[in-house]
Parts: sequence; structure tokens; C-alpha cells
Amino acid sequence: MKQLGQSSSGHLLHELFRLPVTSVKGIRKGRAGKLENIGVRTVGDLLYHLPRRYEDRRVVHPVSLAKAGVPAFFTVRVVSARLRRIRRLSILDVTVQDDDGGRMVVTWFNQPYLLKTLDQGRRMYIYGAPVMKKGQLKLANPELELEKQGEKDDYLHIKRVVPVYPLTKGISQKIMRRLLYAALQEFVSESPENQSSLVDPLPEGLIKRYGSPPLDRSLWTVHFPEEEEQVAPAKARLVYEELFFMQYRMALEKLKRQKKKTTLVCPGGKMEITIRSSFGFSLTRAQDRAVKVILKDLESNVPMCRLLAGDVGSGKTCVAALAAARVVDNGYQVAFMVPTEVLARQQYKFLHRVFEKTGVSCGLLLGGMEPADKKACYADIAAGRIRLVVGTHALIQPAVSFKSLGLVIIDEQHKFGVGQRHRLVSKTPVPHQLVMTATPIPRSLALTLFGDYDCTVLDELPPGRKPVKTEVISPRNLPAVYDHLEREVSAGHRVYVVCPVIEAKTDPGSRRAVKAEARDLSQRFDHLVLMHGRMSSEDREKAMKRFRSGGGILVTTSIIEVGLDDPGVTVVLVRGAERFGLAQLHQIRGRVGRGTLPAVCYFVIELDRDESRERVRLLEAVNDGLEVARRDLELRGAGEFFGVRQHGMPGTRVSNPLEHLDILEKARVDAFELLFGPGSPGPVPSLEREARARFIDLENVLFT
Ligand code: ADP
Ligand code: MG
Repeated sequence: MKQLGQSSSGHLLHELFRLPVTSVKGIRKGRAGKLENIGVRTVGDLLYHLPRRYEDRRVVHPVSLAKAGVPAFFTVRVVSARLRRIRRLSILDVTVQDDDGGRMVVTWFNQPYLLKTLDQGRRMYIYGAPVMKKGQLKLANPELELEKQGEKDDYLHIKRVVPVYPLTKGISQKIMRRLLYAALQEFVSESPENQSSLVDPLPEGLIKRYGSPPLDRSLWTVHFPEEEEQVAPAKARLVYEELFFMQYRMALEKLKRQKKKTTLVCPGGKMEITIRSSFGFSLTRAQDRAVKVILKDLESNVPMCRLLAGDVGSGKTCVAALAAARVVDNGYQVAFMVPTEVLARQQYKFLHRVFEKTGVSCGLLLGGMEPADKKACYADIAAGRIRLVVGTHALIQPAVSFKSLGLVIIDEQHKFGVGQRHRLVSKTPVPHQLVMTATPIPRSLALTLFGDYDCTVLDELPPGRKPVKTEVISPRNLPAVYDHLEREVSAGHRVYVVCPVIEAKTDPGSRRAVKAEARDLSQRFDHLVLMHGRMSSEDREKAMKRFRSGGGILVTTSIIEVGLDDPGVTVVLVRGAERFGLAQLHQIRGRVGRGTLPAVCYFVIELDRDESRERVRLLEAVNDGLEVARRDLELRGAGEFFGVRQHGMPGTRVSNPLEHLDILEKARVDAFELLFGPGSPGPVPSLEREARARFIDLENVLFT
């Protein structure tokens, strides 16, 4: 059977990204299953599975000439092997000798099973930097490759610069090299020197512009370079190419949306003036700028799709209120979705107040509402009697249908799954969307996750804010901290105490529980209020009311993390702080210092481990959310950060948007220019196919 990808002029890359990896010689079901563990499912995946480093094995070094500290390649025979145990540690010492008689001792820790393979006289390749100890040459934990007599493909493993791959159980370096060699030969070209059978998917203009090496050569080079120096330009090309197609895909999504012209054009009205005057303060310059841009979006017949990013407390709600006013003023409805009921109530209260004089009826829709109230709310929304509705996930239930939804606002977007956002947006053919996030995303991530959005940043806080004083403490400092809480409470201020879990059966350690904490605190404080996610919606509301009016301490979970705005709270104490991400702790800290009163934040590290203390201590010095986010990303990786976990990072294989920001920016400009620039040819089918084949995941990340 001729391979799918074999057209007259050669293989097409996007087809290789759909061709199962079993099409490669030497890969049957068993191996394919193993490869899947490292995300290699297709021939394309395999070709883009790059080495993590290289070993220069062009010269076999005589052991007798080896220099301490200098990495070198040796081929040796086993002279003797001895397995020792020191407590839990197993140590395998193997004395080896090369053909010239030079000896050294190679040691492997905790790999006792190697002993079986290392019979006397067994030949093997080792690579590493030996050290000199007590006059003896030693090498610790090198990667072991056995030499087999009569192996025909020695040329893959010795006398060359050898690739070292990320592996998975059951696939050795040797096997991986063979598989890649086979894949390159069959799907790229017969040999590095031969003419390609793989068509370069990049537009010719771009290849010329950057003087990039062609795809076939780049692939051969990153896997089997002649010199290690050749790798960097080849890899840069692959990185650029991947990011280009990612951004092309983003551009396609944006174009698709823009083509859906909307009749929801909202020219200016008077309502905004009323709303502004009800705020009681004037907007910051950043807020004014954002409002201007958003209103302009709303005036055009292209659906708005805008991300409003701003640090905690930068005042996104006011911007949203003015956007809502514009749309309501034009006779359409607005839906404002938030992740928690507590926050929904707060936003409802705020919007209700600022819209009071306009006569616009606002509604609140929560999952925990009485069925009768819910039904009445559905009816009011369907009839258009409610024009501005604030709600939680309850807003996306099938029973909710709008009369004329014109704008969807999503607050704290990172707390929502993609499906949830999408369902709200799909309630009307082409609504405008305003998505807000308090987690300031580093630009690289913004371009990756929101590349098809227009982005506005609130880079200024309202005047008079003092940074929250932050202290990382251990449990033994708590008595003094409790004294502080007592002073605050008796001064009429209020306090949040945040615990990582609601209840814990066993020795809590870092799992400090709300219930236990409340019990302890009750010995000292009278005004304690408990609130957590396992309480009914009604009880939570009552608890918040009691806390707001009666004062004292609210013992709670990270449920308060998002959005809450209460200027009367002056201290937040976080138990088990090591269990939270940095960005999350920054959010929790952002719950205080929202008024003019000085505010303090205590992070308690329960289990004293240096690394968690160091991590959290960063917050003592860094107050800027963007910086916190960046550090958090570095520490935990994009997968954990910013809810990316929920929907996965778009499937990059060779590039890392965080690391390759400069290439990402270039790729973005190029891709968008191709679709939106003067004289754009419109979507190019071959590029479109390539982008779609490679970034299947994007469908789950972007709104469609
Ligand atoms: P976030 O961006 O975190 O959602 P909010 O919209 O909750 O911030 O605003 C935080 C607090 O700052 C609120 O109490 C709000 O009323 C207040 N605020 C917003 N804008 C201004 C401003 N321009 N001047 C003074 N206070 C403001
Ligand atoms: Mg907010």
C-alpha cells in the first residue's frame, strides 16, 4: 500500500499529523501503546519528538587518557561487578576496561537490576564526565547502552553526534533512535543528503525572509546532526514553524468571527452618564481607556471578543458596568456570569445600585435558589423584563433563554471551563463578549490562550491603595498574630481566615481544616462566622450577611479567592499556605486592602520545608500580580497555572511559548499579516489544513 501522504510531489506534513505512528517500520501495537504515554500518536508526533540533548560520540576516548570533569565517550568491557547496599540505597560498582587496557569504575545507584545484564566481558557504550577519586577514575550514573555483536545499525549509536531522547518505559534510546531514523527515511527523505519527499508547509516568502533551512533538512539535523552547532538554527526553524501555525489558527478563528457581521450595533446613549455619576469616584485613566475601546467595539458591526485583564482591585467591574449600560440602552439584554454565588450576590448588589436611577431591572440567578423563584426569573429573562442578569453556572442551564441577549460578560474567566463559556455565548447567534480576568497573564500565555481575542489591560490601580503588608509565618508565631486579630476586631474591622480544606479526619499537617480552625479560634474570639462550599446556598448567604453586619472573623476556604470586594476587611490569614499556588495566594491577598485602611496578610506555612517557605516568601517582596504570575508559571509550569489544566495547553510539541516569546511575536505578526494584512489572499487552504491538523486542541481552548 502506498502511504497516504505520498502525493506526486511528496508527503504533506498535515497528513503525517493524522497518520498513526504504526505506519512507521518497527512500530506495531505494543510499541505504539508505549509511545502514546509520551504523547506520540502520529508519524508527525514522532518526527517532532526532539532529543533533549546530544552526546558527541565521534571519537572513542581511551580511558587511559580521560580527563576528570571532561565529558567523553568510551567503549568498554565489564571486568567485574559488585552490588552493595547501604540502608535503602543500592550501589552497583562495575569495573570496566577498554581495549587499550585503561580502567575505571562505573557506579549506578538504585538500579540493582543492571547487574543481570553486566556479565563479565560484556561490551557497552558509556558517556559522561569521570572524576578522580583516590587515584581512581570514576563515573557515576551514566546512561548505559550495551553493544551487541553484529548490530547493523551501529552508525546510529556510535561514531557520531548521538541524540538522547526523552523516553518512556519499554522504549530504550537505541529503539527510539531506530524509530526516528526509520520515520525520517520513509517520510522525510531517504537520507539526509537526498531530495525531500516531504513538502515544506511554510509559505515560501517566510522561508526566504528568515533564510530558514528547509523542513526536511531541519528534521534530519535536529535528530542526527553532523555537528551539534547545526542544531540551533534547525530547531529555531521548527519552533517558528510550529508557532506560526498556532498563530495562523488563531487568526483564522478571529477572521471567522469577524465575518459573522452582527446587527447588534450599539450607538451611544445617555445611560452611561447616569452610571458614571453613581460610582462615587472618577475612573482611572486605564479604566477610561478600556471603556473607550470597548464602546467602540460595541458600535461596530463586528462582534466584540475582548479580554479585559487587570490585577486584583484594578476596577474591572466598573468597566463592565459601562459596557452593560451601552448595550441595555440599545434595548438588548446583558448576562454577567461569575464563578461563585457569593461573588454573584456582590456583583448583583453593585450593579443593582449603579443601575437604580436608570430604571433598568436587574436580576440574580443562582443554582441554589428556590425552584419557584428560579422559574419566575426564567420567565422574566425570556420576556425581556430582566435586562441585566447576574448569575453563576445557573445562567447556562437549558431552561434559560433570553429575549434578546446582546452582551455576555464573564468575570474571573479562569475559573470557568471552556464548555461553560461556550454554552453561554451560544445563547444568541452573535453576542458581544467581554471576558475578564484578575490573573494577569504573561503576554506569551495570553497570545497562546487568547490569541484570537482583542486584549485590553488595566495597568493602574485606583488611587490611595497601599500595598498589603505580607508576612510568611510558621504556626508558632500564631499567638502574636491572634493578638493582632483581636486588636483589629475590637477596632471594628473584619478578618478572613482561609483554610485549605473544610474537614480533615487525620493529623491535619498542611491540611488545616475550616472546622478545626473555627473550633480553636472560638476559644478566643466571640464573633466567628463559618462559610464553605458544603453549606447550602442560603446558609452561605446568611453567613456572609452576618459577617458583613456583625463583624469579627470569617473562617472559610479559598471560596473567597475570587472577586470579593469588602473594604472593611483588613487582615487575611491563610493556613496551609504551601498548599496554594502563588497566583492563587495573590488573589486571596487581593481580598484585603480594598479600602483606605492599612491591610495585612499572613501566610502560615504548616510544614516547615524550605522550598515551600521560599516559594511563598516571594510574595513578601512581590506585589505586582503580573510578576507573581510569571514566577508561578516558572515554578509550576503552564499546565498547573491559570486553569490551563482544565483545558490543556494548545498542543505544542517543539516550542514553549514562555521560552520562545520573541519567536512567538514574530510568528504572530507574520500569521496575522497573511490573513489581515493589505493584499491578503484570504485563508490559504494548505496553511489552513496544516494549522488545523496540528492544533486540534485549540478547538477546546478557544471559543468557536
Ligand atoms: P477587580 O478588578 O478586582 O474586579 P473591582 O472591580 O472589584 O476590582 O474594584 C475594586 C474596588 O475598587 C471596588 O470597591 C471599586 O468600587 C473600587 N474602584 C474601582 N474603580 C475605582 C476608581 N477609579 N477609583 C476608586 N475606587 C475604585
Ligand atoms: Mg472582579
